[in-house]
Amino acid sequence: MLTKKCTECKLIKALTEFGKNGFRFQCKSCIKEYDRKRYEKNSEKLKKYQQNYRKNNPERAKEISRKSSQKYKEKYPERIKEYDRKRYEKNSEKLKKYQQNYRKNNPERAKESNRKWRKKYPERVKESRQKHKEKYPERIKEYERKRKEKYPEKVKENNRKSKQNIKADINFRSMLALVQSQSIG
Ligand SMILES: [Zn+2]
Repeated sequence: MLTKKCTECKLIKALTEFGKNGFRFQCKSCIKEYDRKRYEKNSEKLKKYQQNYRKNNPERAKEISRKSSQKYKEKYPERIKEYDRKRYEKNSEKLKKYQQNYRKNNPERAKESNRKWRKKYPERVKESRQKHKEKYPERIKEYERKRKEKYPEKVKENNRKSKQNIKADINFRSMLALVQSQSIG
């Protein structure tokens, strides 16, 4: 086997390990390493250049970045979707953890902000409750059972009230219907 000493790493290697039919002074892995370093150096330069450019032409840089991301979006809509989905997943996990921690460390404040949120978005509360019910019917049942055990009077009272509300609602509707029919007739 024909061999040669690499001028870079000083190792004796087979001629086939040298490029250009064995005519290069450095072995292939040294050449690769050299290319990698050069690439890194250039990408560092490029990065610095971009940073400087952004600093000196903020508006123009924004415009360029907007346009190129627009192009990318048009070219790879699937990738964007996938990226968004992943980002959402990642962040929703983070957000959940953050919220859990916050609740643990500031129970009173969490309660207060929860109360405020409920007051502000009753529709969303309803919706999420509905979803939760559909997703975990067993848990809801269990929760209701426990509540009944713990506060039998309260539950009774609530049930009575909601029945009353339904009744009142029905009464109101029938009255309304009656009034409407009378005013037409
Ligand atoms: Zn070498």
